[in-house]
Amino acid sequence: SVPVALVAGIGRAARDGVLIKGGEFLETAARIDVVALDKTGTITRGEPELISILARDGFSDDEVLSWAARAEAGSGHPLAVPVVAAARDRGLAVPAVPDDVRTVPGHGVVATVDSREVAVGNLALVGHEPWADQAADELSAAGLTPLLLALDGTVVGALGVADTIRDGARELVEELRAIGVKRVLMLTGDNQQVADAIARQVGIDEVRASLLPDDKLAVITDLQSQGHSVAMVGDGVNDAPALAVADVGIAMGAAGSPVAVETADIALMASRLDRIPHALGLAKRTVGVMR
Ligand code: ADP
Ligand code: MG
Repeated sequence: SVPVALVAGIGRAARDGVLIKGGEFLETAARIDVVALDKTGTITRGEPELISILARDGFSDDEVLSWAARAEAGSGHPLAVPVVAAARDRGLAVPAVPDDVRTVPGHGVVATVDSREVAVGNLALVGHEPWADQAADELSAAGLTPLLLALDGTVVGALGVADTIRDGARELVEELRAIGVKRVLMLTGDNQQVADAIARQVGIDEVRASLLPDDKLAVITDLQSQGHSVAMVGDGVNDAPALAVADVGIAMGAAGSPVAVETADIALMASRLDRIPHALGLAKRTVGVMR
């Protein structure tokens, strides 16, 4: 039988916009001493804006934007939204879905558009070469996430997007420390330069960048093997393996991917960061009452 305090705790949490799946979590949550936070869509809004376009010789800004948008139209990633929106704003035709599209979690998207192979994503997706490296550096130095565009395997342009930090992100980090969390980490598939800039603004000093979905998982299992109880907070398909293995997986419910919500132990109904210390604090108090 489930203790009354536990049922009351879960009911209380649901009223506060925190959906808890199953009772055993509360006891685990009460032990959490490390919290790992995804960057894009978790610490940041995941509503980035397109700030700059770099085109290689022989290509116009509009051509770069148009190819990128036609591929991104088939990706569900938050970074795709401003690319498609900017193209439509400029009057460039963007069909709803490309002919053939494959998302590469943590890397980008590859689509077939007018019989050309169009790849949009990070350097690991399109491959290093001098123009691409230089474009990515230039954009990252300005605090922008670089999206490189390759046509049939040749990089022809780059887009720089910027995301804004969610309200309450800095306070979240402070409150987690206040309720006894010893380490707060940022995990991201984005590059180190961009990640460091965001981390500084919210007061996080442990940053792991350029992570693939399985690398995020490995960071969590590493911390667990050091004896920590770890909560992971994420919004994306790329966070699902880490959410699954964490002692407590927390999904940004409203804006995030359904896969993240399914995998997590807790879903935040509104993507409000202040619900996280609230839920962990509630778990500590509920378990305190049960003892
Ligand atoms: P995070 O871990 O911060 O949530 P992701 O793992 O979703 O970020 O993405 C990591 C990186 O992969 C992005 O910063 C971007 O460089 C690239 N990327 C992923 N999806 C896309 C996409 N649809 N278009 C362009 N780039 C992408
Ligand atoms: Mg994310």
